[in-house]
Amino acid sequence: MTLFCKQCNSRRLPEYHQAEKATLWLCTKCKNFTDIDDLIIREQTNEEREEVKRKEKEFAESTNFPSGKLNRRKGVN
Ligand SMILES: [Zn+2]
Repeated sequence: MTLFCKQCNSRRLPEYHQAEKATLWLCTKCKNFTDIDDLIIREQTNEEREEVKRKEKEFAESTNFPSGKLNRRKGVN
């Protein structure tokens, strides 16, 4: 079953991928994508991991009330 990971039984998240032109299922624990037939397509790339982190951060920032405690590191890449 695609909804749950074969390896760790975690829930997989469907995500549309432009490159593959298909919905791939991501296991956030194993960091890999499977197709609808539960075949592992590839691992999640660093780029995609960073993108997820960035989105989470954005989401956290948009749901938090602005506070003076928010320290933004500037010039750190
Ligand atoms: Zn897994």
